[in-house]
Amino acid sequence: MPPSRALYRRERSPMSGLGRRGDALAGLSERSFDVLVVGGGIVGAGVLLEATLRGYRAALVERNDFASGTSSRSSKLVHGGLRYLARGEVGIVRDALRERANLLRRAPSLVRPMPHVFPLRSQVHRLAVRATLTLYDRLGSHPAHTLVSRDEIAARDPDLARLAPFGAARYHEAQADDTRLVFATLVAAVERGAIVANHIAALRRRRWGDRVRTALRDERGGATIEVEARCVVVAVGAHFGDARADFDWRAMALRPAKGIHAVLRVTPRDANVLIRSPRDGRYLNTLPWHGHVLAGTTDTPASREEIDDPRPSAEDVAYVLDAVRPLYPDSDKRVRAAWAGIRPLINAGGATTVGLSREDEIASPEPGVLAVAGGKMTTYQAMARRTMDLVDRNIGRRRASEEAPLDDPLPPSEKRLVSDAPFTRGELEAAARDGMVETLDDLLTQRVGITLVAPDAVREHARDWAKVVAPILGWDESRVARETEDVRTRAARFAPP
Ligand SMILES: Cc1cc2nc3c(=O)[nH]c(=O)nc-3n(C[C@H](O)[C@H](O)[C@H](O)COP(=O)(O)OP(=O)(O)OC[C@H]3O[C@@H](n4cnc5c(N)ncnc54)[C@H](O)[C@@H]3O)c2cc1C
Repeated sequence: MPPSRALYRRERSPMSGLGRRGDALAGLSERSFDVLVVGGGIVGAGVLLEATLRGYRAALVERNDFASGTSSRSSKLVHGGLRYLARGEVGIVRDALRERANLLRRAPSLVRPMPHVFPLRSQVHRLAVRATLTLYDRLGSHPAHTLVSRDEIAARDPDLARLAPFGAARYHEAQADDTRLVFATLVAAVERGAIVANHIAALRRRRWGDRVRTALRDERGGATIEVEARCVVVAVGAHFGDARADFDWRAMALRPAKGIHAVLRVTPRDANVLIRSPRDGRYLNTLPWHGHVLAGTTDTPASREEIDDPRPSAEDVAYVLDAVRPLYPDSDKRVRAAWAGIRPLINAGGATTVGLSREDEIASPEPGVLAVAGGKMTTYQAMARRTMDLVDRNIGRRRASEEAPLDDPLPPSEKRLVSDAPFTRGELEAAARDGMVETLDDLLTQRVGITLVAPDAVREHARDWAKVVAPILGWDESRVARETEDVRTRAARFAPP
């Protein structure tokens, strides 16, 4: 049974494990750390937790809100990656499958099994897909794949049957709530002694004996402080190259790639059906997500402007719709939201970003500093372990790591905010109270998550929801008005172009 709203009033939610921002700022200015992590996406959160599990005094700063970058704009798949197998990247796939099993076990409320359906176009295609999936199973994908005949599909799903003249292969991956996974990881770290603060930008660094001093600016209050650490781990995703914070290291020359998703207001199937783009033959996902279909993605080189402000173009959305139309014929009229993220791909050469490996890179561009990028959400814990192995070597290991369970910090409650998406008033109130919320956008986009699905509802109800949380956050009328205005402007950017 989901907990009732009364329970939320009485008890603090697991999100309270994040701590209070004021306490975090005080802790940052008073203490010196073993490890300072810059960047509050999934990679930074993973490094922070691993550092804490190994007994280091660790802190993390994020210049916007936690998980406001690529880590909330992914396809939400925790997967081995069939595409990489087709390119012969067997080692990456084996590692990712191991991490998938790991996350399914450690974070069952956030990472759930997701069946995949691969329509088969021809006899040759059928043989090729079977061979790939047999290898996938051998590398550790469970349960093993099965084949479904065209007749079986036609009996249940005529639209899908038209795409599958030779039947379909059914196999399994997992689907995560990517944003909540970041928060669960941060909460697990803070519960073990770490400090985290959002809206704090890391600026320049200077060497101080065997330490590194990093200037931090409070993006809300404007104050600047300096924090001392034995090691700084920079996990800023696609933002390497940002000269403002001295992250323009040659060792981290990435080739960032933009990917977009469209959220369709249609009845989802119970599986991710893989759809082939008629334009270039790439496969796109059509995932069930919050009662909608999450369709994507694209893969195009990202410009400097797009890295700072990724947005889908009308052409990006048209590419996705061209692919999904055979499965969802009226999808053109059903686009409720569209948003973009930037993959921090390692520059491995080649003409297009589609061919680049998702392998990660950990570099030491200057003494006392490690930079980590690339990889994917699925492998974030493995990246964190390897990063911390290097930290261990530099500053001496404190203790062996252990496994930390990861729980959804905002468990579901009953009363919905809107009738056609499963976001609740209980989540809204609990996140406002416990979730280090600075702005209405933090609350609706990164904590509750409704903006990515229903930006129309956010624009319509922003004021009502701001009033609900105003007593919790101590907002007066003018603050409610300002936050409402700001969140409406931001939500408009999630509306289809
Ligand atoms: C379209 C798309 C689909 C994807 N799908 C999947 C998928 O299905 N499965 C999967 O496993 N992976 C997927 N990925 C990859 C995955 O999302 C990324 O690899 C991962 O989220 C990167 O996390 P990160 O922490 O490195 O970057 P980010 O999440 O971008 O975090 C970096 C953070 O650093 C902060 N920052 C920058 N500069 C500073 C500074 N000076 N001070 C403080 N903070 C700073 C930024 O604000 C940002 O929040 C996908 C990626 C994209 C784009």
